[in-house]
Amino acid sequence: MMLQDPAILQTRAFIGGSFVSATGGATFAVVNPATGERISDVADCPAADALHAVASAETAFRSWRGLLAKERAACLRRLYDLMLSHQEDLARLMTAEQGKPLAEARAEVAYAAGFFEWFGEEAKRLYGEVIPANAHGRRLLVLKQPVGVATAITPWNFPLAMIARKAAPALAAGCTFVVKPAAETPLSALALAELGCRAGLPAGVLNVVPGTGAAEIGEILTTDPRVRKFSFTGSTPVGKMLAGQCAGTVKKVSLELGGNAPFIVFDDADLDQAVAGAVASKFRNMGQTCVCANRFYIQDGIHEAFAARLAKAASDLLVGDGAAPGTAQGPLVSDRAVGKVEALVADALDNGATLVTGGSRHPAGRRFYQPTVLTGMTMAMRAAREEIFGPVATLFRFRDQREAIALANATPFGLAAYVYTRDLGRAWQVAEALEAGMVGVNEGVISTEVAPFGGVKESGLGREGGRAGIEDYVETKYVAMGGLGS
Ligand code: NAP
Repeated sequence: MMLQDPAILQTRAFIGGSFVSATGGATFAVVNPATGERISDVADCPAADALHAVASAETAFRSWRGLLAKERAACLRRLYDLMLSHQEDLARLMTAEQGKPLAEARAEVAYAAGFFEWFGEEAKRLYGEVIPANAHGRRLLVLKQPVGVATAITPWNFPLAMIARKAAPALAAGCTFVVKPAAETPLSALALAELGCRAGLPAGVLNVVPGTGAAEIGEILTTDPRVRKFSFTGSTPVGKMLAGQCAGTVKKVSLELGGNAPFIVFDDADLDQAVAGAVASKFRNMGQTCVCANRFYIQDGIHEAFAARLAKAASDLLVGDGAAPGTAQGPLVSDRAVGKVEALVADALDNGATLVTGGSRHPAGRRFYQPTVLTGMTMAMRAAREEIFGPVATLFRFRDQREAIALANATPFGLAAYVYTRDLGRAWQVAEALEAGMVGVNEGVISTEVAPFGGVKESGLGREGGRAGIEDYVETKYVAMGGLGS
């Protein structure tokens, strides 16, 4: 992998403002999922390094919180600029370790950088309140203050954006930050640390602790009493467990967990828009996003046309190494991921689904799976209840609006949902009735740093992005001043 700026490829942990080897010197291999080649060996940090990072963050908090918002904002703006000027290198690194096509990786770099720009600006607007007093001689105030040391654990599917969504509001609010990135994708996180350093973030403000011992690092990040806030993006079972660990010291917790997004297409939908939105929502990152459409509910009258058009679009997607020009679908992240997709497709076919296109591994390599479309799905099939996390579109039929809403909501998850219709009244009714944190109406891609991202039900707690995104990193302090005279 040729980088214009080879120094962004860092392989050691970033703690207290320096790149350091893991205590004990262990390393682990980071492998390109498209080729199986080893990219580099990265510090495999034990719990002691997580403790060191928390201590550094605690020390740095004392001075970082005391800077003017404008000064913190200037650092974050420099980081935004550096990320964009290194967009190509960051994208190449991301594609190498994660597999997504370069075009998607470039888009993720811009999206991730956008959080630092947005929240840097937001830092200057963390207003408190003055409340009309309840008695003469009193003044009642509300202050917004940074919570303190914030820690995070992030997944591999968006190696930069999932960190930026948390780090940017934390740093903007005046918190300091420690993250354990996913073991598959530590290089993007360490490149961010390198650029953060160049942007002038003081030592200890941003710390990255890579490692394969997720449980032992996670235990420190969720139980150390110096940590006041923990944010997790990943699977629902792990998130529930980590939230439990945070309970012992009553930390503020944000959870961005799994989804099971319905994608509803009514007879009156614009078919071109619906198919384009379906491809964007389903096949982005090879189906490995938490907001990917997981269940397509298609109304009877448009079902045949939609299925045929979607199958054609899916089979036209170019599958191959994400670094090759024109690739639209890269590899899945691991052998386990491919195995899960195979099992879900086999279960659906065994239970009566019809294969329209795809349905097996792709000749491009061991971790590649063909873009697939299945029809005749029922709620009894595993793919209706579990996150597929792969390039498989599963189509169900429905008769009317009432049935579509009931089917869409028949899940313990509630992250994203999508609806396609040209009837304005129906668009409102369905958007309001869906049990989801986010709804795309005639839109298949909805994530942006300027809007609140998050889930309801077992998909999570809290919001990231938009004005709401900084609230989780501040405490609200009420100050009552008395004896002031009338
Ligand atoms: P995962 O297994 O939960 O892993 C996510 C992170 O948790 C990784 O850093 C992992 O470390 C760590 N982890 C795993 N077990 C742990 C433990 N016992 N203690 C502490 N940390 C632990 O999830 P995944 O399969 O990699 O990621 C995909 C999931 O994330 C999907 O469910 C997806 O929907 C969800 N997701 C949600 C959002 C959202 O915003 N709602 C966004 C993206 C992804 P290692 O890598 O070292 O195992």
